[in-house]
Amino acid sequence: MNKKSDVLCKGDSVLNVSRIGPKKADLFAKMGIRTLGDALMTYPRDYEDHTAPQKIADLQAGEKACVRAVVGTAPQVRHVRRGMDITKLTVFDETGTLQVTYFNNRFAAQTLAEGTEYLFCGRIQQEGRRLVMVSPTSEQILPQNEAAVLRYLPIYPLTAGLTQKDLVRVTDAALTTLNGQENDFLPVFLCDKYQLPEICDAVRMIHRPLCESDVQQARRRMVFEELFLLCCGLQRLRLSRKAETGICFPVRDTAAFWAALPFRPTNAQKRVADEITRDVQSGSAMNRLVQGDVGSGKTVLAAYLCFLAANAGMQAAIMAPTEVLARQHYKSLAPLFEILGFRTELLVGSLTKKEKQLLKARIAAGLTDVIIGTHALIQDDVEFKALGAVVADEQHRFGVAQRSKLRGAGTPPHVLVMSATPIPRTLALILYGDLDVSVIDELPPGRLPVESYAVGERMRPRINAFIEKQLASGGQAYVVCPTVEEGELPLKSAEEHGAVLQRLLPHRRVGVLHGRMRPAEKENVMRAFSAHELDVLVATTVIEVGVDVPNANLMVIEDADRFGLSQLHQLRGRVGRGSRQSYCVCFGADKGELAKQRLKIFTSTTDGFEIARADLGLRGPGDFFGTRQHGLPALHAANIASDLTLMQSAREEAEALLEQDPELDAYPKLRARVEKMFSDAADTVYN
Ligand code: ADP
Ligand code: MG
Repeated sequence: MNKKSDVLCKGDSVLNVSRIGPKKADLFAKMGIRTLGDALMTYPRDYEDHTAPQKIADLQAGEKACVRAVVGTAPQVRHVRRGMDITKLTVFDETGTLQVTYFNNRFAAQTLAEGTEYLFCGRIQQEGRRLVMVSPTSEQILPQNEAAVLRYLPIYPLTAGLTQKDLVRVTDAALTTLNGQENDFLPVFLCDKYQLPEICDAVRMIHRPLCESDVQQARRRMVFEELFLLCCGLQRLRLSRKAETGICFPVRDTAAFWAALPFRPTNAQKRVADEITRDVQSGSAMNRLVQGDVGSGKTVLAAYLCFLAANAGMQAAIMAPTEVLARQHYKSLAPLFEILGFRTELLVGSLTKKEKQLLKARIAAGLTDVIIGTHALIQDDVEFKALGAVVADEQHRFGVAQRSKLRGAGTPPHVLVMSATPIPRTLALILYGDLDVSVIDELPPGRLPVESYAVGERMRPRINAFIEKQLASGGQAYVVCPTVEEGELPLKSAEEHGAVLQRLLPHRRVGVLHGRMRPAEKENVMRAFSAHELDVLVATTVIEVGVDVPNANLMVIEDADRFGLSQLHQLRGRVGRGSRQSYCVCFGADKGELAKQRLKIFTSTTDGFEIARADLGLRGPGDFFGTRQHGLPALHAANIASDLTLMQSAREEAEALLEQDPELDAYPKLRARVEKMFSDAADTVYN
């Protein structure tokens, strides 16, 4: 967690707040609130604007509204049936009258006195020809409390047993202990330049805003601060790496490498290879990200770097996110390195303990040149004789912390990370602020674009026939189902759906692949599919990343509305790799308007960057950053879709500041916060 509470106010327990006893304190603890500082960091989830009540005549059905009205008739309780009371009353203002109804809540209305003015807030519904306000909250308006009632109201997240009043009580107490301005770590000149409130004001504005613009201003500050910290941290990392010495590889015999490939490299591949060549001769360690759409041929560059390392008499490691993928890399790269005279070995979890031990001993003795395996294994406790280069495939699962971990004590190896998640450039510069970025913007020649369709259940018979048709002409098909938790119906599980398909296609060989299978089983199925001993592979998203079977030309995605757009794009990238026309069929277009729209975006383009942009627009705040995906500190406030401009400013300012003052010597508070943000992230990084 990105905690700054400790700086902002005293770490008093919520128990010190009047009327909060041990029972309530336990409930607060359940929400992660133990101290007043924690309470300050629990932001309202929403606000209600009670500053400008509406006139009764202007109300419309379906909206949530506030009216300032006088009770015209005393509440009437009617017992409708067992367990059902309805309480009704009428209220009026100068523009009209309105009925107010409570269900099974006679107490809510009991305190309402005829002829007295209240602020009512609730949902407006149409009942026959008139409008009704249903189960509103009410507060009496007196001349002396008018301002207190007509305010901009924070709505806190709650847990059962706690009320808004409890949260307000505790946050009130916390706000009175807010420490002064001297604790702001954001340089004053930045607050001035971007008109950001200083930290204590921002916290106050978030909890007790006077109006919506207070919340906006405070939020801008929080977003800026978060991104600025992130950028400072990444920038610092980058500068400190640049300052270190790296291993210089002699670059020779590269012609032999290119000649050993079964194809000619694309111009984009050549360009990135040149960038890598330059990096490994530069004298400092390479930290480069290769971004390229699925199928753009990133593996060649991994191979190229390994070749340079091995040629320099050093070892190279390729880390894949899954065992399936590690095996696939091994299968395609081992023969290539064999031609070039280097020994390749596979380090995966399904080896026996003995085998692993022996392999590790060979690695430590320098008997292997290229080691391919899963992230977890290679990072674990492998000792290399002389590690010269590391490739991390699918970088979005490879964190900042892991990158540094692999370096060990010696001279840092050259690191190449590869990502098939295309993201807009502004964002790439932030997210990968500690790396140099190369882009492969060209697909190998002769690729036919994948034809994509979004369909509903009605089309199932036709799609089944279509699958059969593709198989009959020699193609292969993937059918992907979302990962299903036990009892989560009615989604399709890979196992069941595999059985159904097998019955439908009795003459075809249907295989199933899912995350709960043992690695050896998975491997068997993958191998069979790849050797065309299976026609259909029904799988969960274990095949999402990187799997390469060029003969497969049909991708059917079940419940496609459950996947993110970028994930769908990854899945689609599994086909269209060979010479056959390929197809991607997404079920789920009949699951509501939103699902339909999203799938339409997806099927209308094959450009990964465009899809990524659309995907960002559809995601909620904070969803995109975060430890699990990127190994970066989690961001809580920033919404990358709407905060792009602010993000850009934050990055530019971070760069400028660090350029001037690389160690942040003039900004010790800022430095401490940056360090804390990154050490917290390192603690929670995935494993
Ligand atoms: P990704 O960028 O998704 O990792 P891969 O490296 O798996 O892509 O390459 C996808 C497919 O394209 C593989 O079958 C690979 O052999 C092939 N390929 C890569 N580069 C070229 C090229 N220059 N010409 C033809 N085929 C290529
Ligand atoms: Mg790949």
